[in-house]
Amino acid sequence: MSFESLGLRAELLSAIATQGYTTPTPIQSQAIPVIFEGCDLLAGAQTGTGKTAAFALPIVQMLSETTTYKKRKHPRALVLVPTRELAAQVSEQLQNYGRRLSLSSIKIYGGVNIRPQMERLDRGVDIVVATPGRLLDHADRGTIKLNEIEFLVLDEADRMLDLGFIDDILRVAEFLPEERQNLLFSATYSKSIKQLADELLDQPRRIEVTRRNIAADAVTQAIYPVDRNRKREMLSHLIRKGDWSQVLVFTRTRYGADKLTDELLFDGIKAAPIHSNKSQSIRTRTLAEFKKGELRVLVATDVAARGLDIANLPYVVNYDLPQVPEDYVHRIGRTGRAGEDGVAISLVCPAEQARLVEIEKLLEYAVPQESIAEFPVIAVKRGVKAKPGQKAKGASKSKQKSAKAKSPAKPKKAAAKPAKEKSPTRTKTGRRGKVDTKPPAPKIGRRLSRTKTSK
Ligand code: AMP
Repeated sequence: MSFESLGLRAELLSAIATQGYTTPTPIQSQAIPVIFEGCDLLAGAQTGTGKTAAFALPIVQMLSETTTYKKRKHPRALVLVPTRELAAQVSEQLQNYGRRLSLSSIKIYGGVNIRPQMERLDRGVDIVVATPGRLLDHADRGTIKLNEIEFLVLDEADRMLDLGFIDDILRVAEFLPEERQNLLFSATYSKSIKQLADELLDQPRRIEVTRRNIAADAVTQAIYPVDRNRKREMLSHLIRKGDWSQVLVFTRTRYGADKLTDELLFDGIKAAPIHSNKSQSIRTRTLAEFKKGELRVLVATDVAARGLDIANLPYVVNYDLPQVPEDYVHRIGRTGRAGEDGVAISLVCPAEQARLVEIEKLLEYAVPQESIAEFPVIAVKRGVKAKPGQKAKGASKSKQKSAKAKSPAKPKKAAAKPAKEKSPTRTKTGRRGKVDTKPPAPKIGRRLSRTKTSK
């Protein structure tokens, strides 16, 4: 299937060509016709599948077809997203497509001054990409009118529920007109997602492009069992010996991200943290530096990293295994995007055995285990039995080859000299950091049916 055969306008085809996309991804070829038909959509798609363009292209095209000469003041499409970073990325794509058809779009999120957003809204805008809390702030102040919304997109809906946004989403829905087209994208289908879909969508068409929770195929995965207090040393070793130039490292807590950043800097590796305790301007600057290659390591928590789209990101490291097994899939999905190969490495200490077991049960396969000569091999319990000679899941032969070439993790590539001794840390260990998440979403169910916004 080609983009032309999807019925997209010439202006959008040229935007797509400029981005270097040649063929639609499965979510694009399936979702775009459904959206053009005017149906509500319930799409199971992870980040990295091309889902943003799957809704952005048809929405922009449909809005352009009904734009009148008299410029409208109030937004006609609303995209709700869980994080500021995702808001920035989605809005960038919408701006790129929209400006070719004289449609404007803005992003709205908290943590920054509300005034410029109010002024921008006052000038009139076609598409708004927003995190729910700040959007409600505007709606309550009357600085945004949502009664002309024709398209509602819930992007990464599962994550929005994880972050406890259910009440905000339902309140936003109360500001919307009943007649509208609804598109819900979620990497997973939980009971709560089904309830949310029942509440907000009208006879949606269902599309699922990847099997639930299955890790991106283009990612070559490995675990490195290691003693807890040698993790930092092993990470520095891997980065240096493998000459990794761009690595996204996940820690479980904000405190852990700051501490690891300090330690990497102490080891002479340029690193910076990104998490919800950092101001938006610092987060934006850090991400820009990382994308430009000015930072070698970005140390992130799950919340901050959700939705990050870094072109050709070659390496993801789980410094700590996530508490929620699904987050493992989200994390490693930062690499291996849009057909590129990626390598995802997990440093697993004995205390994390139970988490590894849960992750492998979810994946339904054992992640291949690797070791480095300088670090003693530690036995860890596995969730699924590894088959003898098992290769990393999903990687084709050629992919494996190139991924392996990127990976320095092979003992033969390790230097004869032991990695640098553990450096003294300036932060005291033993303090427990705060997990960078909000409390789990409240159960929805009965309350949903009370607030039903029928169409
Ligand atoms: P998304 O799932 O929307 O976050 O997109 C993941 C990545 O895929 C982004 O870097 C997009 O630029 C890229 N992408 C989206 N559609 C295509 C396509 N048809 N061909 C190649 N890359 C794409």
